[in-house]
Formats: sequence, structure tokens, C-alpha cells
Amino acid sequence: MRDEVKKNRSAFIPHPSSLIPSYIPPKRRFGQNFLADERIIERIIREVRPLEAETIVEIGPGQGALTSRLIEKTGRLCAVEFDRDLIPLLHEKFGTRANFTLIEGDALAVNLCSVIAPSTQARVVANLPYYISTAILQRLIEQRACLTEMVLMLQREVVERITAPPASGERGFLSVLVEAYCEAESLFDVPPTAFRPVPKVWSTVVRLRVRPQMGVVVANENLLWRIVSIGFAQRRKTIFNNLRSAPVDLISLIEKAGGAEHALESAGIEKERRAETLTLEEWGNLSRLLESL
Ligand code: SAM
Repeated sequence: MRDEVKKNRSAFIPHPSSLIPSYIPPKRRFGQNFLADERIIERIIREVRPLEAETIVEIGPGQGALTSRLIEKTGRLCAVEFDRDLIPLLHEKFGTRANFTLIEGDALAVNLCSVIAPSTQARVVANLPYYISTAILQRLIEQRACLTEMVLMLQREVVERITAPPASGERGFLSVLVEAYCEAESLFDVPPTAFRPVPKVWSTVVRLRVRPQMGVVVANENLLWRIVSIGFAQRRKTIFNNLRSAPVDLISLIEKAGGAEHALESAGIEKERRAETLTLEEWGNLSRLLESL
């Protein structure tokens, strides 16, 4: 009898791999809308065309929908996942692949240039969590020194903002920022039904090629971004009125340029215009004028 109990007990000792649940419920707080449509996955992979001679960084591999396809052809794949519950699953699926590195971390904090070392350049592929997609995009742009291209799935409205030309209602800080550092190409729209769980919004896949040189020549990039940010501070106001409400240190620069009206005139910008009508070159004119003072 005793032996029988022992036997049954040992029969219930789980194998280590069976401890990893094959289904992990998606978490809304991590923006988890997993890609579930093979045709969309295939299309993204076709657009990326991973190469054996390159390193790719995947932000948010999730349950591996894109990872499993990228890993087949990429020389080296570094994946950054924040949800620690997904880590064992990802190790189980891809841990034996020599070209796979998994980093448990926050894409907003991780230093990608260190992650990809000894490689010095990489491309990024991601179906980004929407709740922080623009923050991650800004962080990627900050780290552009080691990135050549990003193929990103974003909320459709975000891609419309990124690609908005001057004078369009969607143009904002993000449009000018992306235009300065990248060439953007909207690739295709993705319906909500391609994801599980199904989100409320459409998505768009966009390609951002990092420019070898910034799209506008300025000596002080920080000053440029402060001016753009102030210019867009209140969208319904003219650029003239937004500049007049700038913080003190910037106001004193503007005063040195003879005041907001004169500064705008010297930069070739009519004072009645709103920030969304300015071209990247015009933002550059204004910034160069102030940085020279
Ligand atoms: N790539 C998978 C796919 O297409 O099915 C998952 C995409 S899902 C929209 C976003 C992924 O990003 C999730 O796996 C989520 O846990 C992860 N994530 C969320 N916040 C993150 C962060 N701050 N850093 C890195 N990954 C994050």
C-alpha cells in the first residue's frame, strides 16, 4: 500500500517544462494585443526581410508571434520583454537557439547600444504596446546612433501623426521629431481582428529609416526641441503667442533677438501662423537664429 502511494506520488512530479503554462492570459496593463493573423505576420516579415549578417532587436516579443519568424533568418535576435511572466515561455520556445538573446527589461530604460554589443548597428522590429508606443519611439530615436531602421506596428492615428506633412491638422511635435531623424514610410494598415484580444483601434505598420545626418542643420539640438515643444504648447494659438508664453530663459533669448515678432520675421515666418504649418527647415531657421545669440 505504502509503495503504491509512493509510486502514485512520484507519478505526479511534474517535468520542469510542464511548469511553464502554454497559455498566459494577456495583460492589458502591458498593452498585450498579440498578433494572431498569420498573413499579417508574414507581411511584416516580408517587409523586414531579415538577413543573416545582421542584428535585430525586437521590443516586446510577447508570446513569440514575430520572434519565431525573425529567428529563422536573422543573424542575431535580441528581444526585450518587460512582462516577467512571459520570460520562461520565451526561454522555453527560443532559449536553445544560439542566435537568440532575451533581455528582461523595460524598453524605456534599456540601453540598446549595449544590448547589441559587440554589434554596433541593428534594426528594430516591434508590435509596440500602445500605451507607451510614442515614449518608446522617442527613446529609440534617442538611441539612433546604433539603429539603422525600425519597422513598427503602431496605432493608426500615431502613424498619421508621424507622417503628417506641414499644414495638416495631425502635425505635431512627434511629426517634426521623426522627420528630423528618420524617413518615414507608412506600409499597410492592420485591422483589429488580427490581434488577440481584439483592440478597439486599427493599426499601421511603418518603416522608419534613420537618416545618416539630421534632416535640418542646427548646432544646438536641445534648443530646437525646446522651441518646437513651446511652439506646439497650445495648438489653437499662433506660434507668436506660444513663443510669448515661453519659459523665462527662452524669453530672454527671444528678447535678445528683438522680441517674438522680430525673431519670427528674421526666420521668415509670419507671426499669424500656427506651429503645424511650419516646415522642418523653418523650425531650423528659428532655432539657428536663437542659438547664435
Ligand atoms: N510581439 C508580440 C506580438 O506581436 O504578438 C507582442 C506584442 S504586444 C502588442 C506588446 C508587447 O510588449 C507585450 O509582450 C508586452 O508585454 C511588451 N511590453 C509592454 N511594455 C513593455 C516595455 N516597457 N518594455 C518592453 N516590452 C514591453
